[in-house]
Amino acid sequence: MDLIDYPLLNVDNEPEEDRITGDSILKEFDKLKQSCVIKHWNVFYALHFEFLARGYKGDGLKMTQPICRICNMTPEFALEHLFSYKHKEKLKSHSVSLRSFELLLFL
Ligand SMILES: [Zn+2]
Repeated sequence: MDLIDYPLLNVDNEPEEDRITGDSILKEFDKLKQSCVIKHWNVFYALHFEFLARGYKGDGLKMTQPICRICNMTPEFALEHLFSYKHKEKLKSHSVSLRSFELLLFL
């Protein structure tokens, strides 16, 4: 099974520009949640997005699974995990780029 990295689930290759940390990260999560793209998403909507249900789909040849390198786990639903309290609390202690929040909107 191939493990797939996503922005904010892996901070190893964060862009250097526009770095934020701590409570600023929580504020960006709030903005992201309120954005028109994600505001209606929940775990049921999530089933329709390949990104979120990836671990349980495959093309017959290869299975893929999102991985969170910050929590060191492979979440069942990546987006649900991304917005979970535990994940956000851990991410707060890292430094991330605002660009990663923007990137998520285009997945
Ligand atoms: Zn996590």
